Amino acid sequence: MAFEVRDRDLMGRLGRLRTKSGTIETPVFLPVVNPLYQRIPPRRMMEEFKCRALITNAYIIKRHYGDEPMLDVHKLLDYEGVVATDSGAYQILVYGGVETTPEEILAYQRRIGSDIAVILDHPTGWRASKRRAEWTVEETLRRAEAALPLIEGDKALWVGPIQGGKYIDLVERSAREMARMPFDIYALGSPTEVMERYMFTVLVDMIVAAKTNLPPDRPFHLFGAGHPMMFSLAVALGCDMFDSAAYAIYAKDERYLLPYGTSRLKDLSYLPCPCPVCRRLTAEELREMTRGERVRLLTEHNLYISMAEVDAVKQAISEGSLWELLEARSRSHPALFSALKRLSRYRDLIERRSPTPKGKGMFIFDSASLSRPQVTRHLRRLTENYWRPPEAHRLLLVKAPRTKPYGRSPQYRRLLKALEELGEASSVHVCFYDAPFGVIPEELSETYPLSQFEATQPLDRETLEFASTQVARYLEGRGYSQVLLLAGAEEFDALVERVCGEACRRLGIPLSTIRDRDPWNGGRLEALKGMLKGRPLGGLQMGEAG
Ligand SMILES: [Zn+2]
Repeated sequence: MAFEVRDRDLMGRLGRLRTKSGTIETPVFLPVVNPLYQRIPPRRMMEEFKCRALITNAYIIKRHYGDEPMLDVHKLLDYEGVVATDSGAYQILVYGGVETTPEEILAYQRRIGSDIAVILDHPTGWRASKRRAEWTVEETLRRAEAALPLIEGDKALWVGPIQGGKYIDLVERSAREMARMPFDIYALGSPTEVMERYMFTVLVDMIVAAKTNLPPDRPFHLFGAGHPMMFSLAVALGCDMFDSAAYAIYAKDERYLLPYGTSRLKDLSYLPCPCPVCRRLTAEELREMTRGERVRLLTEHNLYISMAEVDAVKQAISEGSLWELLEARSRSHPALFSALKRLSRYRDLIERRSPTPKGKGMFIFDSASLSRPQVTRHLRRLTENYWRPPEAHRLLLVKAPRTKPYGRSPQYRRLLKALEELGEASSVHVCFYDAPFGVIPEELSETYPLSQFEATQPLDRETLEFASTQVARYLEGRGYSQVLLLAGAEEFDALVERVCGEACRRLGIPLSTIRDRDPWNGGRLEALKGMLKGRPLGGLQMGEAG
């Protein structure tokens, strides 16, 4: 197998892809290089920008050089790294057709020595009707089928493109059918327009639809993904490779890329970037250069920034912080943040496909953080694999103290002592309630990630509602004979009180509540002891804030 996965985080992977011109690490960004003219010579890309792979266009080479003998794409570009070639599909999208056949361009890519080659697919594009989109899927599958005997045993890695555009059911079908054919790499076609229009939520749906129907042991390429601010999103969803000309196109338009957005050079007072171009020059000096020089230097900056962001993503995977990077980048643009929120639809999938976390502390900022696999995993385990201690039939649900692990906090120790004095330590099950996890049984409070997380204070309403819903879910089917609630007096406590009230009425279990701004103070513990001794409930329903 040419592809080996070495580390994972979320659905992203750090891998190695073996090609006939050497092994490259993934995720990898392939800058699109014009075969006829380069602002940054490919040799410099390798030496100064650490570009170990690039992509160029076999169709343009064929039109320009035709059947020139001994043509080798590495020599043509003066580049010893890995060269991928596209087949002219993009030209079909832009010009409506190409002057070649699928067989011709396939043979041509073999002849010029491409390391990674793409069959000539038929891109769906953004404006295609459903019928037209369906046809592009069928036509691409027909061409893929016809290509198989022609590429069998070839040393290049061959890419099977997935089409379907914004029609998610078509993307699924296209991926399912393509997966039956033994391509080395699978790729999602025609999302360029989706990305240009910043329709990142559609992109999330497209990538998920393709990825979930493809063999996980093969690399997955995203065509036309070029803005560094979306690299972490693409990788988190399982993209191993992407290519784009954005670094050069933006430069021509005098736009300056950053991992958190885009600026026009004319609007910049400073160059907030550590790359050699931006350290050497001021924004003013850059503006005063000749147009050619300015565009060249902007191209260099844009490429530096893109390559550095790939390294940031790789580092995040290796230390298990890809989610943190993804959340930070998502704040760059509302469209990206919408994509982050879209992940809530795929919580179960993300949890199933994410590796065991590396035990790193976890940050919960707001409801967007709820799609983290650690949250889903705790809730799933609580529902599927957790039983309360059988003799502990009375639930004492207390607001989580400030110190973690909750089960080792001085507050909990005092409570435990009080229960022991009453001889009730075994009949009472102490659970903490907290956002975002909902219920944390005392005996689980030291397990990951229940004592290794930090949450914003106060959390947003959506997160608090999510957590209180989890409290209600926890109560279902546990067989408690009584619920005692020791609650605080904030927004979240009121929500928990309400859902507990509803759940206990539904389940026919008695509920007693003590509510206090500081539910852990000594007086409240005395009241709790009284309640456990069975004093009439009426006298113990404490009022607001004591
Ligand atoms: Zn720079």
